[in-house]
Amino acid sequence: MKSIFFAATIAALVATSALCADKPQYGVWGFDTAGADFKANPGNDFFRYANGAWLDRTQIPSDKPGYSLRLIMTDTVEARLNELMAKAAAESGSDPSDLQGKVGAFYKAFMDEKRVESLGTKPIAPELDAVRDAKTPSVFAGLMGRNTVDFNPSIFNVFTDVDLKDPKRYAVYVSQAGLGLPDRDYYLEPSFAATKALYQAHAAKLLKLIAWPDADARAKDIVDFETKIAAASWTKAQDRDVNATYNHMSIPDLQAFTPGFDWKAFLAGASLSDRVRLIVAEKSAFPKIAAVYSAALPDTIRAWFAFHIADSAALYLPRSFVDAYFELHEKTLAGQKTQVARWKRAVHLIGGNDCDMIPSDCFGSLSWGVGQLYTAVYFPPEAKAKIEDLVAHLKAAYRTRLENNDWMSPQTKAEALKKLDTYNIKVGYPDHPRDYSKVVVRDDDLVGDVRRAAAVDWAFYVGRLDGPVDRQDWSMTPQTNDAYNGSLRDIVFPAGILQAPMFDANADAAINFGAIGGVIGHEMTHGFDDQGRKIDAEGALRDWWTAEDAKKFEVRAAMLGKQYSQFEPIPGVHVDGALTMGENIADLGGLTLALEAYHESLKGKPAPVIDGLTGDQRVFLGWAQAWRGKVTDAYVKRQVVSDPHSPRQFRVNGVVHNIDAWYVAFGVKPGDKLYVAPQDRVRIW
Ligand SMILES: [Zn+2]
Repeated sequence: MKSIFFAATIAALVATSALCADKPQYGVWGFDTAGADFKANPGNDFFRYANGAWLDRTQIPSDKPGYSLRLIMTDTVEARLNELMAKAAAESGSDPSDLQGKVGAFYKAFMDEKRVESLGTKPIAPELDAVRDAKTPSVFAGLMGRNTVDFNPSIFNVFTDVDLKDPKRYAVYVSQAGLGLPDRDYYLEPSFAATKALYQAHAAKLLKLIAWPDADARAKDIVDFETKIAAASWTKAQDRDVNATYNHMSIPDLQAFTPGFDWKAFLAGASLSDRVRLIVAEKSAFPKIAAVYSAALPDTIRAWFAFHIADSAALYLPRSFVDAYFELHEKTLAGQKTQVARWKRAVHLIGGNDCDMIPSDCFGSLSWGVGQLYTAVYFPPEAKAKIEDLVAHLKAAYRTRLENNDWMSPQTKAEALKKLDTYNIKVGYPDHPRDYSKVVVRDDDLVGDVRRAAAVDWAFYVGRLDGPVDRQDWSMTPQTNDAYNGSLRDIVFPAGILQAPMFDANADAAINFGAIGGVIGHEMTHGFDDQGRKIDAEGALRDWWTAEDAKKFEVRAAMLGKQYSQFEPIPGVHVDGALTMGENIADLGGLTLALEAYHESLKGKPAPVIDGLTGDQRVFLGWAQAWRGKVTDAYVKRQVVSDPHSPRQFRVNGVVHNIDAWYVAFGVKPGDKLYVAPQDRVRIW
């Protein structure tokens, strides 16, 4: 359900940090004029007009597929976190009681490589011993339930979330799992055969590192076992169907449905013995996966456990494990050329990141506490007040535009307005800090710190299961440089993304409206489009559009799709207007809303002129600057076939030429390359 604004484009880019950052100077009103090319004709290429000088002089670092102002933001956050943690470590005792002391001791434990080396595999001995001692499938099922709090693997994932069809309550979800590679295709498609072989070698390597008997033979058994699970698993496309993955089942029914797996033992392991019903995701896969499990030899299951325990804990273990982890997970699977510095791992593993999309990012971390320390320094209350004010203007602008919308039926419009009123836009950091008082952190027990943090985290989610849904909750940490659209009908902008050029409390308002305002608008429209229409004003799964509205939306969307399909980032390579449709519509809606919100914020007063630039000009420049960046041709070729977001220059040029005010602001005329006749400009939101 989540629509992450940037994840797809940015994930591949953040692997390592560059040395040759071209730091922009945002100046007094928030725009890096030295990076623009004001000699260019804005009507021919507005992206270049706003960003040309930076594009010309910036080299893409050799270890990255691109570079951008967004990546510089990520580097900034990481460096700040490292500084905070190192300072906390210098000041903390070995057995601290306050949050800062705990973060410091955790960091100290992580950075103490000498101690990590000397401990060897001793820290994961409790899990490995339990696996060696396990004699029955039920005991193994119980250990799988414990994967919520320790390093054990599981063939089924268990997690808690808002009940999609009863959004006033929480529910326990179970979903297919058990694979060490990113997707079932890696096991089943011949094109991934080489990667699969490297995975098997990786399993053998780790088993040898923990002195597991018959490592090579067992590694083959493990991969065979997972291949059978892969064959039983649903595809990613099947998994995207929110209705198909919502299946209520009582525990006895689920037990009868999947005879090979002891759910009682599993739920006891997860501290969920008192549950009476679950929501089962990939229902038809469950009995098949359970059958694969019950048919497997105990030695295979044991080795599979041992390998995954070592793999999940690898980054907290000696260098040989870290190197093995890098070879498979970062180099082979992600194309990263060099390992990241240890302090960066510390920042990520102690601070977490996006706890919802990538739960392992936050496993055993002090994520929310680290966010609290970060925002106390880098996101003062004045910044929060300013961005909240901006958000209020955007919401008001969207209300006006929905009311004046000329293609929605009155019935659908009424539902949309109702939904808009319930939307919760969260900025900076959560209102209620997470309680870490029960987490014991010691500077000489890294793996223990991870386990204890995970246990307190899981207890928090289990403990609130029967309570009311907390609509103020967050699932992305404050220090994350990203945003999301969540199942609580919320749009969340963590402090990590609320920095220049996206948002600067000291910058001119027009720049902020153009940049973060456009992004907030983008996310808001997602809640009302062909995807958002599946969730209603109560947060429940229900399509609230009429068929007639859907048809009218599609006609307009098709016009936009035609425009984008003509864009050619590299000669012969075209943007896929259909693949990028939803995001292009959101971009157009986002900037349209931002401009209107800016106008509304002026309350009838004329916009100030700064350095000869009008308010409207600065709104458009703010949006264009937010997308400043460049990527390699190889990246573009992959992006146009796999990423629902258009290449960055079209997120600027493809949007502005549909907005009348842009023509006025920059004097764009027929004959200019981006010129679109008024009757052909697309208007949706
Ligand atoms: Zn989006």
